[in-house]
Amino acid sequence: MDLQSATMLQALPESKTLSILNKVTRLKQEGHDIINLAGGDPDFNTPNMIIVEAEKAMKLGMTHYVNSNGIPELRNEIAHKLKIENGVNYDPSQIIVTAGGKPALYVALKSIINPGDEVLVINPAWVSFEPLITMVGGHAVSVDLNPNDHFKLTKELLDAACTERTKAIIVNNPNNPTGRVLSIEEFHNLRDVVIEKDLILIADEVYEKLVYGTHQFTSLASIPGLENRTITVQSFSKGHAMTGWRLGYLALPSELVPAASNIQGHLATCTPAFIQKAGVVALKEAKEEVEYMRSIYDKRINQVVTYLNQIPNVNCPHPEGAFYVFPEIKFRNFDSIELANYLLDEAKVAVTPGIAFGSSYLHNIRISCAMSERELEEALRRIEKALTKIV
Ligand code: GLU
Repeated sequence: MDLQSATMLQALPESKTLSILNKVTRLKQEGHDIINLAGGDPDFNTPNMIIVEAEKAMKLGMTHYVNSNGIPELRNEIAHKLKIENGVNYDPSQIIVTAGGKPALYVALKSIINPGDEVLVINPAWVSFEPLITMVGGHAVSVDLNPNDHFKLTKELLDAACTERTKAIIVNNPNNPTGRVLSIEEFHNLRDVVIEKDLILIADEVYEKLVYGTHQFTSLASIPGLENRTITVQSFSKGHAMTGWRLGYLALPSELVPAASNIQGHLATCTPAFIQKAGVVALKEAKEEVEYMRSIYDKRINQVVTYLNQIPNVNCPHPEGAFYVFPEIKFRNFDSIELANYLLDEAKVAVTPGIAFGSSYLHNIRISCAMSERELEEALRRIEKALTKIV
């Protein structure tokens, strides 16, 4: 019997963020005192009114199949949110509610990719973009942004990566792991290439609610010229501290809805109804709670950036959004994997190696600030001690 997995998937790597999480969980179970700054899971509890609503919905019997694209109440609320907060007009029929951001990305990619089509991935990029493109039969093409140029997204870089086979560009804004928020100039660079090369833009905007200082979030679909070419992907995980609920959505051009709906129907049947009800309350009633969490991340990021930058050979740019920092660290010629392993062994602090986000980021690590100030302070002390240790 041939028990080999599909050829296309044999080289598919496991999720680098989840494999670290699994390793940390195992080490903690073995009794090691590890501080986990590798993950993107908010330390906050989900706001209470969201939990109460899910419980109420379950008790009222919302435990059955519902419309595979989502309950009307949530799709209407999402369309309203996209219009009022983001200035984009998607009809509720253009919205599909999914079990988190990853399935939304999968449905988006599966709806548009033919075998061998190329999708540009702007690096540093979240670890699952490339595997998701592979899973739908596409080919990921890296566009490596330069840390010495503030990770700026230029038209030249995009043009150089496009070929006859390019079908789409996938962009995460605000960015995980750098925390960059795209500028107007970068929006225009993207728009020009998308229009000139007749591409589809997949805008992963899951860190929308986490933007700091004078920076402002702008939805890519609101940029004139991009409104009919953009698939917007969203999640409740980060801004609402709802990672474990698995709730997200995609909003897409109406021409793509029939294919995307069929994929969603066959793949998921539907997203649990009581969780969708909770999502309605999250959008309508949790604004203050979301803003409170944002303000705390803001403080923590300041704390972490200031601390790291006073350690010799550490250069930590200040993120503009999301809740990670992505410092460059020169230490004993270690590459990012060696450095992450060293920090785990020596400091008992888990971080994500920069190379997980693109092969060019050899000396960066990603540190998550989704952890209490007390733990961050202790982790920073340990990291400093490890990085200033004389051999
Ligand atoms: N998005 C988070 C991260 O980058 C969660 C883990 C994952 O799904 O990759 O750490």
